[in-house]
Amino acid sequence: MFKIVKDTNPKLRETCDEVSLPLSEEDGQILEEMLDYLKKSQDEEFLKAHPSVRSGVGLAAPQIGIKKKMIAVYIDYQDSPLAYLLVNPKIIASSVRQCYLSGGEGCLSVDTPHPGKVYRAYKITVKAYDYLAKKERKIVARGYEAIVLQHEIDHLSGILFYDHIGKTEPGIDYGDAIEI
Ligand SMILES: [Zn+2]
Repeated sequence: MFKIVKDTNPKLRETCDEVSLPLSEEDGQILEEMLDYLKKSQDEEFLKAHPSVRSGVGLAAPQIGIKKKMIAVYIDYQDSPLAYLLVNPKIIASSVRQCYLSGGEGCLSVDTPHPGKVYRAYKITVKAYDYLAKKERKIVARGYEAIVLQHEIDHLSGILFYDHIGKTEPGIDYGDAIEI
């Protein structure tokens, strides 16, 4: 199991390096292990056996001590789970429309609560090498999925979700609440 790098570690604030393509076998292995970790973290039996593991839908390589632009997302939608293993992801378009998670954001690297609205673009287009599709592609994501991707891509620049809190004027409605 990975040891998750916490926000008390300055390494989490570093900007990650571009990953060279074609992807090395080693980097592919890391991505698969990241996805496996997320799946396990959402498995009730596994969590019972590993009480120190917290449940997560996204993981960025710097959170496991690897300074590379790689992220994993796994959202266990009942009919068809959504999985992304992305290399060098870059947001190339963002909607003006904003949104935020109604319950606030959480992070495997952050153990202390940081209440507050984290406004993010409602719709984004991400360009990345998609390891599961084995090709370079553009992904359009909205709402919750867009929030998760923006959270993970932020990690690659050393940005944490609570950096965004309080950057907006209180009392102004910048966008809609998204319920999970
Ligand atoms: Zn995080």
